[in-house]
This record gives sequence, structure tokens and C-alpha cells, in this order.
Amino acid sequence: MRISVNERGAERLLGRHLWVFRRDVVSGPEEPGLFPVYFGRRFLALALYNPQSDLTVRAYRFQEGEPEEALLENLKRALKRREKALEEEPEGGFRLVHAEGDFLPGLVVDSYAGHLVLQATAYAWEGLLPRVVEVLKPYAKSLLAKNDAPTRTLEGLPLYVRPLLGEVPPRVEVKEGGIRYLVDLLEGQKTGAFLDQRDNRILMERFRGERALDVFSYMGGFALHLALGFKEVLAVDSSKAALERAEENARLNGLSLKTLEANAFDLLRALEKAGERFDLIVLDPPAFAKGKKDLERAYRAYKEVNLRAMRLLKEGGILATASCSHHLTEPLFYEMLKEAAQDARRAFRILEKRGQGWDHPVLLNHPETHYLKFALLQMA
Ligand code: SAH
Repeated sequence: MRISVNERGAERLLGRHLWVFRRDVVSGPEEPGLFPVYFGRRFLALALYNPQSDLTVRAYRFQEGEPEEALLENLKRALKRREKALEEEPEGGFRLVHAEGDFLPGLVVDSYAGHLVLQATAYAWEGLLPRVVEVLKPYAKSLLAKNDAPTRTLEGLPLYVRPLLGEVPPRVEVKEGGIRYLVDLLEGQKTGAFLDQRDNRILMERFRGERALDVFSYMGGFALHLALGFKEVLAVDSSKAALERAEENARLNGLSLKTLEANAFDLLRALEKAGERFDLIVLDPPAFAKGKKDLERAYRAYKEVNLRAMRLLKEGGILATASCSHHLTEPLFYEMLKEAAQDARRAFRILEKRGQGWDHPVLLNHPETHYLKFALLQMA
């Protein structure tokens, strides 16, 4: 049993992109699973395959081999690459498996102080879960399958949340730089927290000042680190539950935070009107562009919040600003920031151009693995 692709599909795989869409698949088995991919008689790759999904072929290896063993080999390698960090920071939060970025398409595993949360969004993983659990076991105090991502429906997969190993605690305390925070494994967004910004959050500990503002704060991610160095920190989010957790996290660290439940767009405008000023502002919005179609509208939304934030800064102030929309590419992100600065009538120096943490590896050939942009700007 094999998958056969057309010339365009072959060209993608030869260029080491991992995906072939349905329109470029010539023929294949009726059932989902792991299969070799061919162009005519030429072997191209081993791939996860789902004929029900528009994203039909997801390659994970470009040499021949036993499909299941080769996939599990990739999993073991991904874990090996994280071993040093796990040993050095057993109470930390790390991504153990970053899907395509680790040649494990559609599989994410995050570790919160050794409590693992798994999300699988490609069909073929479902039948392999018992073997995946075996490989993860030595790294896991517990393991939760948080398989409730809506994209699973596109694959024809059921939605469920279920423990696979050990006793899953409802909440786990994670250490990150100079602070600790609580993660809700069962109730939180995504796998519980946003580990991709870890290093960028820790970076906030280098700054000192009077007033800082963390917009789109979730559970106080950036705000907690800022509270170590600023007299007053305001955390803003539209989710009341997230802000309650931010306050709890502040108490856990003996820090004080002000929280405000508000729509970021309205709030930034209101602060400007009131003549408020800050030494440092963080903007970490959700993905405004979910697809290519809404890129234009998303671009305007990103520009709007950045422009407002730029106007709220004191002279010499710092703007730490992010976008996690893959569709807003890095060049577009900086173009957007430039336009925002122009319209705000302020000049900014780029202190650092950053992205997602090392445990969310980017595959150069597969740009979809690069989604997080993070710029540190200073008003010049
Ligand atoms: N900075 C956080 C992650 C932010 S996730 C961290 O490092 O952990 C994005 C957050 O934006 C979510 O908590 C969501 O509730 C919030 N959000 C989404 N739309 C919003 C809006 N219009 N105004 C304010 N907050 C919003």
C-alpha cells in the first residue's frame, strides 16, 4: 500500500516541505495510516496519511524504513533534544514535541514540571497512542490527552480529554525565571499555557521602572516578570477567569498586580484619552489572522493596537510586541510596526528581533512551523 503524488506534490516533498494537499494526491489507500509516498516509481517519503482530510499527506522522513518504527524514532529524538533542559529545570515548562518542527506532524506534547499534556491533530496518531505513551512514560509524572482542538473534526476525529498515564493534577505549579505560576491542565487554553513565549517573558526581568502595562495578559504571563522590576504593573485581558488566575499567581509570588477586565482596543484608546503614560508595554494578542482570507483585517487590527501602545509610552519607553499568526509573516510584521510608528509620529529603535523559544523548532523548508514574531522596540 502506497500513496502516489503528482509532480507538484513531488516537488514539495523534494524541497522538504512536509505537506501535500488532496489536489496533488493521485492515489492512495482507503484508510488513514502511515504509508510510503511515491512519484511514479521514485520513493519520496514516509507520511501520515488521511484521505478524509484536505491536508492528506504529512511527511516525517525522507528515507525508506519501517513506517511505525521510523515515526517513533523521531519521537525519541525530539525527547533526547530536551533532556538537558528537563534535567536542569525539572520544575520548568517545556514543549517536548513541536509537531512538524520535530518531524512529528500533528503531535504536540508540553511538559509542565513533568506533567505532560498531549494534543494530536492528525488521524494516524490515534491508533498509535499506546506506543506513544510507552515512549513518553520515562518523562511523565502524568499524561493527559487534551484532544479537544476543533481542528480534529476536520480529520474526522472525536473530541475528548482523558488521562493516559498516572494521576493528572488539576493544577500544576511551574517555575519560569524568577517567578512561579499555576497551570490548569484540564481547563486552560491550548495545553494549559503558552510556552512559546517563555524566554521572551523571562527577558522582561531585565527592565526596571515605574509603570508597566501587559495587554492580552492571560494568566499574567508577562506581568508577573515585570512586577519584579516595576512599581506598578497593570494586566489587561478580556477573560475574567484568566485575570483571577493572574491575581492568584501574583499572591503565590508575593507580588502585586493590578488587573483590568477590558477589550484591549477600547482600553488603549481610553488610556490615551486620559493622558496615561507607561515605561514599558507588552502586546501579546491572540492570532488575529486565522487564515489567509482575514489577513488584511488582521493587519489593521495589529497596527491599531501597536499604534495606540506606541502613543502611550514615555520617552525612551519600551514596547515588547508579538504576533502568533503564521499568515502575518515576519517581513509583514515589521512592515506593520513601521507603519504604526509612522502614524504614531514616533521613532523606534529595534533592540531585538525574536521569535518562539528553542523548544518550538522552526523548519526552514516548512515555513508554517515559524509562527511567533516578537520585537523589542525602544522609543528613540
Ligand atoms: N501573554 C499571555 C498569552 C496571551 S494569549 C502569556 O504569555 O501567557 C491571548 C489573550 O488575549 C487571551 O488570554 C485572551 O483572553 C485575550 N484576548 C483576546 N481578545 C482580547 C481583546 N479584544 N481584549 C483583551 N484581551 C483579549
